[in-house]
Amino acid sequence: MQFYCENLIEHKRLATKEVKIGNLYLGNFHPIRIQTMTTTDTMDTLATVDQSIRCIEAGAELVRITAPSKKEAENLLIIKNELRRRGYSTPLVADIHFTPNAAEIAARIVEKVRVNPGNYVDKKKFELIEYSDADYVEEIERIQERFTPLVKICKEYGTAMRIGTNHGSLSDRIMSRYGDTPIGMVESAMEFLRIARGEQYHNIVLSMKSSNPQVMVQAYRLLVKTMFDEFGECYPLHLGVTEAGDGEDGRIKSAIGIGTLLEDGLGDTIRVSLTEDPELEIPVCKDIVKRYEGRNQVTENTPHPGSAFQLPYTPLEYKRRNTFSVSNIGEHHVPVVIADLSKLQEFTIKELESIGYSYDVVTDKWTIADTAADYVFTGHNLLNFPLPGTLKVIVYPATWLLAEDKTKYFPIFDDIGFVKSDFKSNDINFVMMDCFSDDTSNLGYLDSFANDPSVVLCLSSTSQNAMQSVRRMFVQLMNRDIKNPAVLIVDTNWQTADEHLIHYATEAGALLLDGMGDGICLGMTLETYSSFDNNLSGRRYSSPISGSQMGVEQFINNTAFSILQATRTRISKTEYISCPSCGRTLFDLQETTARIRGVTNHLKGVKIAIMGCIVNGPGEMADADFGYVGSGPGKITLYKGKEIVKRNVPSEIAVEELVNLLKENNVWIEQQVLIN
Ligand code: SF4
Repeated sequence: MQFYCENLIEHKRLATKEVKIGNLYLGNFHPIRIQTMTTTDTMDTLATVDQSIRCIEAGAELVRITAPSKKEAENLLIIKNELRRRGYSTPLVADIHFTPNAAEIAARIVEKVRVNPGNYVDKKKFELIEYSDADYVEEIERIQERFTPLVKICKEYGTAMRIGTNHGSLSDRIMSRYGDTPIGMVESAMEFLRIARGEQYHNIVLSMKSSNPQVMVQAYRLLVKTMFDEFGECYPLHLGVTEAGDGEDGRIKSAIGIGTLLEDGLGDTIRVSLTEDPELEIPVCKDIVKRYEGRNQVTENTPHPGSAFQLPYTPLEYKRRNTFSVSNIGEHHVPVVIADLSKLQEFTIKELESIGYSYDVVTDKWTIADTAADYVFTGHNLLNFPLPGTLKVIVYPATWLLAEDKTKYFPIFDDIGFVKSDFKSNDINFVMMDCFSDDTSNLGYLDSFANDPSVVLCLSSTSQNAMQSVRRMFVQLMNRDIKNPAVLIVDTNWQTADEHLIHYATEAGALLLDGMGDGICLGMTLETYSSFDNNLSGRRYSSPISGSQMGVEQFINNTAFSILQATRTRISKTEYISCPSCGRTLFDLQETTARIRGVTNHLKGVKIAIMGCIVNGPGEMADADFGYVGSGPGKITLYKGKEIVKRNVPSEIAVEELVNLLKENNVWIEQQVLIN
């Protein structure tokens, strides 16, 4: 094993134990299973059965249903019988929080139960308590006493179990000792896992979810390492990003978290949590999983070219790669966005609107959005209009020679071209490097321009394992103490808008989460670009952000900024943490999320949680700045951080009250634009 996976530079799945869930096998190199969770009231049998069937027909291999109390747990039998009567044998999972009694009933009925170790025994009071070692041991004994009966029932009935830790709902005990950290998440699950193993019960899957992909990825990696260190084996992993939201942002966040781990061969089943109907999650899961079909699925530990390499970064905590800056790229600068406009047939001032720059002829002013690209790549084209002040242009070397304003235009070379060129910019030279997949010694002409203060590296790979190839180049740069900033170049030749989003998010997100990348440039092959559907009719969801007329350049620009936002490397917009909803939900989450987004989406950097119920919502909303939480039929409770500030507000005026709360806390601004 390398640190936490089989291989950091090839796609090789991690060997995990096999788990049986009804008639479904999971782990041990079985296909990555796809699952979702119903949003209906569990007591509404027909609605739950009908929704489960829609999910199954969309491709769900497991369906989870909430069981908040004994009566819902008992109703699972009626739901299961009705599904079987209608010919559906898909395994069902009971979702349990706070109620061991419900778990013990459900475990006798359905094929799998999910318990949250943060609240199965402990009741959360958000209190910081000092525990002595003796107190702590006593607490573990209390957990053992309460959890063991469920383990015994699962063992007797052949029921599988997921020990599902959530970043936002760690117990006060874990929080007091480990804080709100990946270590705390791992330890929370390990306490339960040790008890289960003590009973020789192994039909277990684990998850480490968070709405922050960075935390989530680190927690899963640490969990794998911890299991191997302690047991010498690993249980299957259920991957997911919680409260990912909806639309593009939800898909991008999910793909970054889930995709980063799948790239490393971690993950046996996935759920994409969207604030949308659950059957809409399934195509996204399929798009994520199909990327690994036909990839290397080596099942033995064979020697590989990377076995000897040293890892000069830590995959268990975020630390940005050490670079110097070239103009506004690298060092302390946020990652830049380079918009590839080289495929445009004609180039007028209008085209810049798609990447965040609007020109007003009457006032002769530019309006620059928070999500305006920093550079444009125009290939062989010089622009025949004055540029907005902050925008710079990258062109091919021969075109650059013709540009009058060398403070606005910069050349891009391939590596040999740069080494042999008689002319170079004094300020910024972009140098393309193809990162080869299987030859660790081939670094092209890197040594000729390493640490040249004018060079920004542009790293790409056409290999099947492109992310790993670029990562290996970063490792080489770090090991050789080469500090030039580097831009990630990611091209796609997938077909649909969702496939492009997932590809970009996985390839770029996985590197950014490890502190690699001082900018991104997302592109498409010419064929893909030409066939891109401007109306996004291939999309299986409606865009809450940009409407249906989003063109390819705008789509790519939005995606680039969303990836940076989701990796928390550059914040340019409001962040929404909205739960996917379930049988506990007390209002229409999709409609409410859209309304809140409609009035707050200009509040750059503010994190707003929209949670369906007060039982789990406050715990699950993690690091949100403000929370909008259902607290009863027609009632909303508003939070600032974890603190209740307005209780039981009538839902008709709750969005207005949220805006008032934002105003009272000085985070509200009127729609704001920068004028050049
Ligand atoms: S926070 Fe949302 S998904 Fe979680 S239990 Fe409550 S309603 Fe269900």
